[in-house]
Amino acid sequence: MKRCYYNVLGVQRDAPEDEIKRNYRKLAMQYHPDRNPGDKGAEESFKEAAEAYEVLSDRKKREIYDQYGHEGLNGVGFKGFSGFEDIFSSFGNIFEDVFGFGSSQSRATTAPRDGADLRYDLRISFMDAAFGASTGIKVEKSERCQNCGGTGATPGKPPEICHRCQGRGQVTQTSGFFRISTTCPQCRGQGRIITDPCKACKGMGRVKVTKTVHLKIPAGVDSGSRLKLRGEGEQGDFGGANGDLYIFIHVEPHEFFARRGDDIYCQIPISFVQAALGASISVPTLNGSEKLNIPIGTQNGKILRLKGKGIPHLKGFGCGDQVVEVVVAVPTSLTRKQEELLREFAKLSGE
Ligand SMILES: [Zn+2]
Ligand SMILES: [Zn+2]
Repeated sequence: MKRCYYNVLGVQRDAPEDEIKRNYRKLAMQYHPDRNPGDKGAEESFKEAAEAYEVLSDRKKREIYDQYGHEGLNGVGFKGFSGFEDIFSSFGNIFEDVFGFGSSQSRATTAPRDGADLRYDLRISFMDAAFGASTGIKVEKSERCQNCGGTGATPGKPPEICHRCQGRGQVTQTSGFFRISTTCPQCRGQGRIITDPCKACKGMGRVKVTKTVHLKIPAGVDSGSRLKLRGEGEQGDFGGANGDLYIFIHVEPHEFFARRGDDIYCQIPISFVQAALGASISVPTLNGSEKLNIPIGTQNGKILRLKGKGIPHLKGFGCGDQVVEVVVAVPTSLTRKQEELLREFAKLSGE
């Protein structure tokens, strides 16, 4: 049910126009959506007041309403407002002429703008991760167009002030007192219109370039490591800072070594004779080979460590370990002589 418009605005039925206007402004300020964000009740009150004002400020509509009420207005096709946009475009000046709004500042299109950060995913070998490397990568990024200096206009043909918004970048009839503003559809908020777009950048002011960036991969990086190259991201505009370039490291697996943290893991096969009698064997490491002592009576699956033969610590000094799992191999075929000796061995062992 709709409330009486006179009650809504808090005026008598014979109230003069200026009183109606005054009361409406008061309500509009009180219930304005900018002052009551997310408040449904205020929103309804704001719309209700706008509708009441729309009718009572219009001599014809007010007459119909006085005689036939809400029904009468329905009969002539009055439907109220669909939303805020509707209200502001109808009453834009009522807010402006009361509060002196309307002299919104020109939008600076040459304000400094920082360049965007970029991400680059880099696959490196296991060994490069372990020892570090220097490499060059090709990064695609956008830079200010050299031809037009970033304006997007052909040199000598500067952009013209947008006629629709007078360079403000915003359309004023929907601005109202409380700075509800709509971006100018003509210039899309730029305030200026390029009449002759730069050929090199098609009016964008920026061009895509591919740059080679050199970087040093420190020893000890792992998958998930992230390197930051300051200032190697997108170029800033009008004095804004350049973005940064983030290198996301992905380390390829090694065919022989596995890595857990800064330790590396491998399996080394030994014969059952070496396991029983003990031995000194040569084990491949990241940078060559190393002698490893197999103690007498070593069991299958025994873990031995080569201290400091793992990956260098990325932060701090020293290296992880190389962890060696011993795998005792049992011969799959024996010569007659070998078999004889093993049977002898079994007899001596009481088997
Ligand atoms: Zn250009
Ligand atoms: Zn405009």
